[in-house]
Amino acid sequence: MNAKKTPIITLAVVLLCITLTLSFTEALTEGTSPEEKHPLTVAESSDYTATSRYADVLSFIRELQSMSAYIKVETMGTSPEGRDIPLLIIGDPLPSSPQDLHYDRRTVVYIQANIHAGEVEGKEASLMLARDILLAEKMPYLDDLVILISPIFNADGNEPISPENRRNQVGPEQGVGVRYNGQNLDLNRDGMKMESPEVQGLVEKVLNRWDPSLLVDCHTTNGSYHQQPVTYAWILNPNGDNSLIDYMRDKMMPEIDATLEQKYGYLSIPYGNFRNFKDPDAWMPSGPEPRYITNYIGLRNRLAILIENYAYADYKTRVEGNYYFLHSILEYCSANQDKINTLIAEADRKTILRGLDPAPSDTFIIEYDVRALDEPISILGWEMEVMESDRGYPRMRKTDIEKTYVLPYISDFFAKRSIPFPYGYFLTVPDKNIINTLLQHGIVVEKLLEPITLEVESFHPTEITPSDRLYQGHHMNSIKGEYKTGEKEFPSGTYFIGTAQRLANVAAYLLEPESGDGLVVWNFFDRYLVPQWSRELPPYPVYRLLKPTPLVKEIIN
Ligand SMILES: [Zn+2]
Repeated sequence: MNAKKTPIITLAVVLLCITLTLSFTEALTEGTSPEEKHPLTVAESSDYTATSRYADVLSFIRELQSMSAYIKVETMGTSPEGRDIPLLIIGDPLPSSPQDLHYDRRTVVYIQANIHAGEVEGKEASLMLARDILLAEKMPYLDDLVILISPIFNADGNEPISPENRRNQVGPEQGVGVRYNGQNLDLNRDGMKMESPEVQGLVEKVLNRWDPSLLVDCHTTNGSYHQQPVTYAWILNPNGDNSLIDYMRDKMMPEIDATLEQKYGYLSIPYGNFRNFKDPDAWMPSGPEPRYITNYIGLRNRLAILIENYAYADYKTRVEGNYYFLHSILEYCSANQDKINTLIAEADRKTILRGLDPAPSDTFIIEYDVRALDEPISILGWEMEVMESDRGYPRMRKTDIEKTYVLPYISDFFAKRSIPFPYGYFLTVPDKNIINTLLQHGIVVEKLLEPITLEVESFHPTEITPSDRLYQGHHMNSIKGEYKTGEKEFPSGTYFIGTAQRLANVAAYLLEPESGDGLVVWNFFDRYLVPQWSRELPPYPVYRLLKPTPLVKEIIN
């Protein structure tokens, strides 16, 4: 520092202190009610014209910590730009670590916000929720739940706040952050390839460490016009345990939806967009791929809710809708805690039993189809009209005439083509990137201690086509080929991934060559799928062992 500047800085600091003291004294002498002493989020203190910056979030959390003994903060990772990502742990008693919960009946619920940092309501709402639970006369939910909150998951994306971002969204007028993280990655496409420190932190420090029964991921919509301020989706991938999907679709989400309306006066509908904007004939959610975090959680045998607040509702309504939806979720989890615990324990048990001795009826789906649910849904929308556009295609705009669309909800994904679910996989290339990714997910990987010759199924690619366009930094592969059965010798040191483990669905999804979101798609195997000295493509270096077989092996970590 330049020594000549010191007096100026000292003066500035003194002036700042005087100003702060004056305003603090003012606040005290004004006789604030107990409620007004609570820390306010930036959304609240700005009268819903602004959203919190990273520093605002940290100081809000510190203030809560100074006021309550029932919150602690862990770091779930460091963003590419070097920001520690805070994870709030709220409980009564406050667990010092997940080990404290081993014989505890409480259910862990994890709320994640700001994964797309232009979609900011969850950040404000989750902080308000933490405050209002901790500072309540009688803290709600905590007899049954331990609540984890990541209010600013995409901390890097949050900081370049500008009114130029997400201009279609109605407020906050002072602007919001950007979608991507400091690596230019969309974190809600990183569920399988796990290339960001944020998602690596989520899996390692939250999912594998605290094992939440439910993940809630807060977003804002981009699409269709409707009046309901809150929309939601559940886990959708049919390669997960279908009892969890059925439970969320048929019981949990309808009850949470009803609570939001009846108790808090906000409307919600299942998330989607009109299949055909010009002539709405159906309502459809996003795809079932586990690159989306909520679908990924389903593959892990846990529950997940995607919240999508309606982008054209005003900012205050969006924050409040999100806030009360979180309350509705926590109320449901408190009241149905035993059921949730039993359901996911049973899903784990079934997964492990299947892997010990897969039956012919046990399959892995490599191609889906989708159909409508039994019940149509009502979207409170508006009549739409075609707008002239200079983009070469017509755009739609809403009129002022309200209209209810009763449409089929096409969100039941089911098997179109399946293959037998194997006992395990042999990985014959010692690739650190592949093995580390499996381990980072929490998958158990073993190594043969003795060579063995076995009948296995191999996959022989006939065609590999990388996508023309880059997507998340990848030319994603699509692959065609055929399966062959034959004997093969596996030397000592060959990696083995058995399916008698809790994360078997994730392991299969990553390793099956034809899975639509596995490691082949995301280029992890590219170098092993190049022809050498011939035109023929080499076999895929992962072999499927179908029958239970004793193997001499040890776990690696
Ligand atoms: Zn989003």
